[in-house]
Amino acid sequence: MDNSALFTIPYGLFAVGVTHDSRTNACIINTAAQAASEPQTLLCTMLKSNLTTEMIAAKKSMAITVLSSDCSLDFIAKLGMKSGRDADKMQGLNEKYDNMGNPYFPGVGTARISVDIDLVHDLGSHLLFSGRITEAEKLCPGESLTYTEYRNRKAAGDRKKEKKYVCSICHYVYSGEQSFESLPDDWICPICKKPKSVFVEAD
Ligand code: FE
Repeated sequence: MDNSALFTIPYGLFAVGVTHDSRTNACIINTAAQAASEPQTLLCTMLKSNLTTEMIAAKKSMAITVLSSDCSLDFIAKLGMKSGRDADKMQGLNEKYDNMGNPYFPGVGTARISVDIDLVHDLGSHLLFSGRITEAEKLCPGESLTYTEYRNRKAAGDRKKEKKYVCSICHYVYSGEQSFESLPDDWICPICKKPKSVFVEAD
């Protein structure tokens, strides 16, 4: 089986929030979809080891924010890269709460959708949640963020953050795919053929 075929499936990007036992938490997922229209039904899958997943499985409801294409990478990193077990991820996020008391994020979403969960199915690594849509509201105008767009923006941002190295002899600026630091010691400047050691960090 060619697992890379699975990477061709397009996805969106969503913030999923829950408040349970006087604790609020949220995380980022890419698998949410409307599953039926009569009744209005939404399904999503979430990594079982996430604290948010545990809390949603216990409360049986959640609020989904459909992220907008101008949502900051910082917001996604804050909810997506850390666990609520180690840090209070909700600090400074300007969330609002739906009728079930679950958080959504008006500043970064094109819409919010609240779900009353009636099915929890164990898929192995993930839990599948499915349920009735109880609230739905458009938030910011504009396009929703796709997972591909997010990955491209993240890659471009990471490249910008990388240090630049310039040849002190011929002023060639290294721009290869591989990071400069990971080049072998016998690598030479493609222009003047001097060793890697003559390169200096550029501003
Ligand atoms: Fe050079």
